[in-house]
Amino acid sequence: MKIDLKLTPIANHLEDPGWPLLIAGPCSAESERQMLDTARQLKASNRISCFRAGIWKPRTRPGAFEGVGEIGLEWMQAVKRETGLLTACEVATAEHARLAMKYGVDILWVGARTSANPFSVQEIADTIKGCPVTVLVKNPVNPDLQLWIGALERLNRAGITRLAAIHRGFSAYEKTPFRNAPLWNIAIELKTICPGLPIICDPSHITGARELVPLVAQKALDLDMHGLMVEVHNNPDVAKSDAAQQLLPVDYARMIRDLRLREASPLKAGTLSALDAYRQEIDALDDGIMQKLARRMELSRKIGEYKRENNLMVLQLSRWEEILHHRAALGKAMGMDEGFVKKLLELVHEESINLQAEIMNEAALKKN
Ligand code: PEP
Ligand code: MN
Repeated sequence: MKIDLKLTPIANHLEDPGWPLLIAGPCSAESERQMLDTARQLKASNRISCFRAGIWKPRTRPGAFEGVGEIGLEWMQAVKRETGLLTACEVATAEHARLAMKYGVDILWVGARTSANPFSVQEIADTIKGCPVTVLVKNPVNPDLQLWIGALERLNRAGITRLAAIHRGFSAYEKTPFRNAPLWNIAIELKTICPGLPIICDPSHITGARELVPLVAQKALDLDMHGLMVEVHNNPDVAKSDAAQQLLPVDYARMIRDLRLREASPLKAGTLSALDAYRQEIDALDDGIMQKLARRMELSRKIGEYKRENNLMVLQLSRWEEILHHRAALGKAMGMDEGFVKKLLELVHEESINLQAEIMNEAALKKN
């Protein structure tokens, strides 16, 4: 399935047109001084297309810093006046969109919690209908590609053609090395379904940790993403939101300088060869398989401890037969070879049993 969005290119105000779109700035606008100081340093780095700051902050629990509100838009104007940078902020309601337009914000983005709500997206789309503003749509918090596409379509149908998606990772119940699991394959699938739609990666919200930001930023460029949105703060340790993931301007500048841009290829930008696209998807899936296997082994260890404490046998034959039977049927229904599925399960089961036996032995050794 392909979806034909009506798109016009998003301007990239970097001097070198070969550079990805670079949006940087604090998670939240906190004071005029913080905004101007951060923006001046970013501007001096020469590696920024647009300055971002959250004016209204969607917080998981009430009582946390919820943004400075309208006054922050005046500070945005000051940033623009002083540095000449384009500006961007998040809008979650029709009123936010109205105010952002009134203060001349150049780029609006729809946050991950809002893009999961079609009513809110529609309200925003109705408010900015036909305006020449650029809108970026973050993926919804849950890994639902159709919901993401639906939000993009609602805005596109309201005449917003300067449109891009932001990949900011997905919340996962399981523990992952990242704050939001990247699930790269979803972003790749979006690229396949909506050809020509720029996708920008937000490594700050994916990682949740400043030391991991460069790693994910590079990976995004390797996956042919159109740009980056990075949280940068003049004093991240005292930031009122997302302190752990914000970079100092100097670290941002270093990261951008060290990024490896993909070799110019004879292919038109934005089009991957089919082989590249398959390989990228396979890489992303393999990462996911590794994460799931690691979690499965962690659970096996926990089961080992439980069995040890309750004096149960490691091998529970009926449970193993049940696993084999169900998973083999599932694999078959999904078009996989039964023999392959069985071999895979046996290998995984063997490793689980070994882990549990080790835990039992440790206990026995300690006793002696
Ligand atoms: C943000 O960009 O500061 C933000 C709140 O992002 P998200 O919607 O991705 O959580
Ligand atoms: Mn943030």
